[in-house]
Amino acid sequence: MKRMRWLAGTAALGVALGCSVEPNPAELVVRGGVVWTGDDTVTAVAVRDGQVLAVGSDAEVAQYVGPDTRTIELDGRMVTPGFIDDHTHFISGGFQLASVDLRDAATPEEFVRRIAAFAEDVPEGRWITGGNWDHELWDGAPLPERGWIDSVTATVPVFVSRLDGHMALSVPHDGAAGRRRRGCVHAGVLKDEAMGLVSASIPDPSEAELDEAFRRAQDHALSLGVTMVVDMGSGSWAHLETYRRAHDAGELVMRVYPFVPLDTWERMEQYVERHGRGDARLRWGGMKGFVDGSLGSTTAWFYEPYSDAPGETGLVVTDTAELRADILDADAAGLQVGIHAIGDRANDWLLDAYEEAIRVNGPRDRRFRIEHAQHLTRDAIGRFAELGVLPAMQPYHAIDDGRWAEKRIGPERVETTYAFRSLLDAGARVMFGTDWTVAPLDPLLGIYAAVTRRTIDGANPGGWVPEEKITLEEALTAYTRSSAYGAFLEDRLGTLRPGMRGDLVVLSENLLELDPVDIPDAHVDYTIVDGVVVYER
Ligand SMILES: [Zn+2]
Repeated sequence: MKRMRWLAGTAALGVALGCSVEPNPAELVVRGGVVWTGDDTVTAVAVRDGQVLAVGSDAEVAQYVGPDTRTIELDGRMVTPGFIDDHTHFISGGFQLASVDLRDAATPEEFVRRIAAFAEDVPEGRWITGGNWDHELWDGAPLPERGWIDSVTATVPVFVSRLDGHMALSVPHDGAAGRRRRGCVHAGVLKDEAMGLVSASIPDPSEAELDEAFRRAQDHALSLGVTMVVDMGSGSWAHLETYRRAHDAGELVMRVYPFVPLDTWERMEQYVERHGRGDARLRWGGMKGFVDGSLGSTTAWFYEPYSDAPGETGLVVTDTAELRADILDADAAGLQVGIHAIGDRANDWLLDAYEEAIRVNGPRDRRFRIEHAQHLTRDAIGRFAELGVLPAMQPYHAIDDGRWAEKRIGPERVETTYAFRSLLDAGARVMFGTDWTVAPLDPLLGIYAAVTRRTIDGANPGGWVPEEKITLEEALTAYTRSSAYGAFLEDRLGTLRPGMRGDLVVLSENLLELDPVDIPDAHVDYTIVDGVVVYER
């Protein structure tokens, strides 16, 4: 680290003295375009020893080009720091890439057709999982029924989830006897905790299957310019070990920060004592918990009833006394805590719990996170900055849920839903991600969503709750520097300053000049990690 600083220092001196010869050239120089560093905009960047060596004009960077330097001519294209997705279910995503895709099944008939087609090739004993269906796409939004797929799945057990992961259509199957469990109480649509009754009987994937799922997910991420993910997947000790295996084998090309279940904080405390916190490639020490369910499943916890389900205010999915105790204990153990909260009451409850932990455990650089922070009371918005709590948000959900959220919670509560602008104005450090596979992993779609708030049904061309739109630079910052901060890596990642890791993305278009409506048409041309090109279109 010291040596690197010294090199960066001499480089700067070289520029100051106008030297034209640099004895130790860069490995990579990217020039002739629009390099958005996170601080300002320049035209070129040089990387050496995996670190940003210099940013500046093409002329300033020219001295670092040696005979072995790889040079990428941008021809006006844009460079950003590598995208950091602050909330994914990454390994599940890898499994989903090889499973049935129901996300855009626009009718119940299409839903059934895709499951039937997929069931034909499923090896014996394997479940059909994943799916990511969305009944809100179906006229009248009926929930799927087991009767729809009973005849087409024959002996194949099925557990396909709604895209938010808070509902699943389950048709379990008695593998030993090869017969369906007729009248099984756990068949049909299950919500939240009830899902666990069936999912517990799905065989755990083998290490080889996990490794393969990770590699598939990693390839997908790198093709989209995602150089780091925070993995908020739930069964994550096995996932953390999957990443460690990949790291040991030299196959961890991107960076990952996997969270593990909050109620295992004692195990993590010991793990950190034994193994430290990892490195800039693979970091651990984050604990994930849940307050409530989701809006799509009407299980998010609100003060007032759902507009389309009078009498229902959602539900708490974890015993709140236990959750509060675990938050205090994990925090006292020096671990980072990130808790899922969607409804306004869930967010208030969690902000109160965090405030209590701060009071009881005393000041510390703890970086509490609220995963989703989706529906907030006006009073809650200011508390994020006051308490230093990080909202880990997913802008694509806004343009997806925006199609039907008002029907569910009414016109008043949507005003403070996905409140990006209000949170930033109140001083909060908003972080962006996708919740993949709930939303596509593509960061450009998230940036488009945050900047335009145009719902995916085209019904809101001027933006849904347009007061909460943010600027392109703000969206980029949420996806780079702020997400790096949320992982305690802002001194190495998220900006392109000399000495930072050489993670960058070359985009096909200059987003700063593009009509925001066209952002989804842009592509990632190169993804670079530690100065090495790891994806090229
Ligand atoms: Zn999630």
